[in-house]
Amino acid sequence: MIDFRSDTVTRPTPAMLEAMMQAPVGDDVFGEDPSINQLEAISAGLFGMEAAIFCPSGTMTNQIAIKCHTQPGDEVICERLSHVYQYEGGGIAFNSGASVRLVDGNRGRITAAQVEESINPDDVHKPASTLVSLENTANRGGGSCYNFTDIQAIKEVCLQNKLKLHLDGARLFNALVAKNETCRQYGEVFDTISICLSKGLGTPVGSVLIGPKELIKKARRIRKIFGGGMRQAGFMAAAGIYALEHNVARLADDHRHAQEIATALQEKDFVGEILPVETNIIIFEVKGRFTARDLAAKMKELGIFVIAISPKQVRIVVHLDISPENVQQTIKVIQSL
Ligand SMILES: *Cc1c(COP(=O)(O)O)cnc(C)c1O
Repeated sequence: MIDFRSDTVTRPTPAMLEAMMQAPVGDDVFGEDPSINQLEAISAGLFGMEAAIFCPSGTMTNQIAIKCHTQPGDEVICERLSHVYQYEGGGIAFNSGASVRLVDGNRGRITAAQVEESINPDDVHKPASTLVSLENTANRGGGSCYNFTDIQAIKEVCLQNKLKLHLDGARLFNALVAKNETCRQYGEVFDTISICLSKGLGTPVGSVLIGPKELIKKARRIRKIFGGGMRQAGFMAAAGIYALEHNVARLADDHRHAQEIATALQEKDFVGEILPVETNIIIFEVKGRFTARDLAAKMKELGIFVIAISPKQVRIVVHLDISPENVQQTIKVIQSL
């Protein structure tokens, strides 16, 4: 099977496994895992921020950040299709007791004007707006990227209104590569940044939350409460260090592969609108001969694993384990349909 369901399906390469096996480890709840300490220092350094904390998942890093930035009864502003709202099990309500103000964005991206309109007045009837959470790249936007100037404009609104700004950067490195941007730029505008090591970067497990020292100290306490305090997890952190060193620049290959597949899809009568392919995700509308589910089933029979994300949409995610030969094979299958 050629598996395009998600960029989480990658297996560690022999070189990554070797780096993991060589990792010095210790008990991270005591702060004694050298590999985790190193990954946290590298991550904070990359973004020019003070501190970082390694967690088992991106859901946990996002949820910890939201909990650090809010009090129960506060309100979080985010895009309607954002992961923090759609795919974290109602965690904003469950973990932080906060409400959510949803904004209808453009392929997952919101504007400074929309943020401004969504901020509640200082009125006892209203929840206090305290946090804006952005997603870059935006998964349900088809891997869309923000223009950095739009993020800066949102930051201005946050500063004027004393709101904190969090980034769900599960696929931030895809955006950085696609837009030729740097981690430092992002470190300058966001209060906290969550990055995933287990998506495009190809590690088995792990995400990192990056931010100011005091906040990350609080995050350690919350991570423990959430059950995310790990022991000799340095084996996983070592995979992360390896990935940050070796697997970032190559994301451009995934982006090119996604373009090639999208070009093949464009020719087919059963393909409707394809969201602009900016990174490693292709989301397209299915029409006519197939429903999204039919098409996914048909492709599966032919050895290609994709997901129907709605009755009319299929998602294809390109990643580290998709070779150029896999891409050519996939294009052949698409052409045969
Ligand atoms: C995958 C993902 C996450 C984190 O997911 P986990 O499976 O909990 O690691 C967060 N945000 C976005 C946009 C994602 O795609």
